[in-house]
Amino acid sequence: MPDPNGFLRYNRRLPARRPVPVRITDWREVYPAAGAELIREQATRCMDCGIPFCHEGCPLGNRIPDWNDLVRTGNWDAAVDSLHATNNFPEFTGRLCPAPCEAACVLGIGGGQPVTIKQVEVEIADAAVARGGLRPRPVAAPTGRSVAVVGSGPAGLAAAQQLARAGHAVTVYERDDALGGLLRYGIPDFKLEKRHIDRRLAQLAAEGVQFRTGVNVGVDVTAEELRARHDAVLLACGALQGRDTPETPGRELRGVHQAMSHLVAANRVVAAAGEGRPALAVLPDGTPIDAAGKHVVIIGGGDTAADCLGVAHRQGAAGVHQLDLYPEPPETRDAARDPWPTWPWVLRNYPAHEEGGARVFAVAVQEFVDDGTGQVKGVRIAEVTVEKRDGRRIVTPLPGSERELPADLVLLAIGFEGTEVQPLLAQFGVARNARGAVDARPDWQTDADGVFVAGDMHRGASLIVWAIAEGRAAAAAIHSYLDGVGTLPAPVDPARQPLAAR
Ligand SMILES: Cc1cc2nc3c(=O)[nH]c(=O)nc-3n(C[C@H](O)[C@H](O)[C@H](O)COP(=O)(O)OP(=O)(O)OC[C@H]3O[C@@H](n4cnc5c(N)ncnc54)[C@H](O)[C@@H]3O)c2cc1C
Ligand code: SF4
Repeated sequence: MPDPNGFLRYNRRLPARRPVPVRITDWREVYPAAGAELIREQATRCMDCGIPFCHEGCPLGNRIPDWNDLVRTGNWDAAVDSLHATNNFPEFTGRLCPAPCEAACVLGIGGGQPVTIKQVEVEIADAAVARGGLRPRPVAAPTGRSVAVVGSGPAGLAAAQQLARAGHAVTVYERDDALGGLLRYGIPDFKLEKRHIDRRLAQLAAEGVQFRTGVNVGVDVTAEELRARHDAVLLACGALQGRDTPETPGRELRGVHQAMSHLVAANRVVAAAGEGRPALAVLPDGTPIDAAGKHVVIIGGGDTAADCLGVAHRQGAAGVHQLDLYPEPPETRDAARDPWPTWPWVLRNYPAHEEGGARVFAVAVQEFVDDGTGQVKGVRIAEVTVEKRDGRRIVTPLPGSERELPADLVLLAIGFEGTEVQPLLAQFGVARNARGAVDARPDWQTDADGVFVAGDMHRGASLIVWAIAEGRAAAAAIHSYLDGVGTLPAPVDPARQPLAAR
């Protein structure tokens, strides 16, 4: 029986972040461990409210009140088991998930303070490591069936682990030189140190998952070859087609780049340093891409933009502006627009925002300004209004509001247009839909029999928690397709959407 008064005794509290002047001199994670006492106190705030809306908020259906109470009562081993029953990689979600569960927590009604669910999650995940490591789980007797997983992001890895544990022979094909998808070279170490990925990969390998890195499916191995080798294929190739702005004058200038180019280059430098190798932040063709000493303008307001901001400060930028097309959101939930328990449109301050830089809202770039040599020297912006008409976004500049910001490096973090156009699609006979994603039938198969899809490739650019949930669900469907014994858990179906009021 949980403590019914815990939330009256304790306020919501998170561990203090590492001080800004210290953390921007390194790439280590921003949050230190919370400590057992703080976490026990925060878990005690969960009142096990009877209808746990947090379950609905979490696509994985994490058993949040259960593990909160196990932490409150000090049953850490049981908490570890309860968490892993629904989530293959809680150390990723506990660090990176925006926590729609907290937006749906009953304690958050009317502007209250939700339980620090995500923080409890990460502490349980780390306790699993501290209490004996991520030991391999028992694996069922071999079924004699084999599955190819294309893409090693959270969707592909979650599916691979589920299928391997069910006794199937699983091979993960990844075109990059290292595994993890966006967790490896997209998301910076100050949000997720890569040792967490490596630890999980060791567990998957010990459970029998085979990994093939540096293999671009559709180029290095054809779809036909893959289908001949395996009984089923899961496509989990992400949604990495970056949105661009080719119509903006000056887009072709040197110094204007996709945000992902900046993040991948920076992450590779950190990875090399970890291996004792010196490296420069460069594009694949060797062009330097580094914010050191530069005026940086980041265009976009989401995760990718915030990650670029944190990277720019750690690289030693002279100054950073982050531009957002939309007006500054309110600090608290507008209950008429986004009633509890839905995900609210509110101002999101990432740790990167307290490290410096200026956020500019309700502006759009009119031109990237040339210094006369083909290198960008500034960004001309205008204040704008944005409205939706007939389903289309209409952006209207306010006359006389134009001004120029200095810029030696401009990073486009304006979203993704779905999964990349690449040979693999035609070879497998699957098409991109109007959103650039790949449709799945109710059993997660694409238009090609025996070829399944999950994660961002199916959903469009989304979140890690959705990628893991889809990977688990697609694994369950593949297990049935291969006539596996029993069923695997399927937390979502392909049509599932986040909680919405309308
Ligand atoms: C900069 C950035 C920051 C983010 N931060 C957060 C965050 O803080 N919290 C959060 O919840 N979400 C965040 N996201 C979103 C999250 O990372 C994604 O939703 C998630 O990684 C999707 O997982 P996935 O497995 O579907 O695809 P991905 O992680 O994109 O992995 C796809 C993999 O497929 C591989 N691949 C593609 N084609 C082939 C091929 N032909 N052959 C072999 N391999 C192939 C790719 O190389 C890649 O490794 C962020 C995204 C970005 C870009
Ligand atoms: S995975 Fe995300 S939504 Fe689910 S419990 Fe963890 S923080 Fe909440």
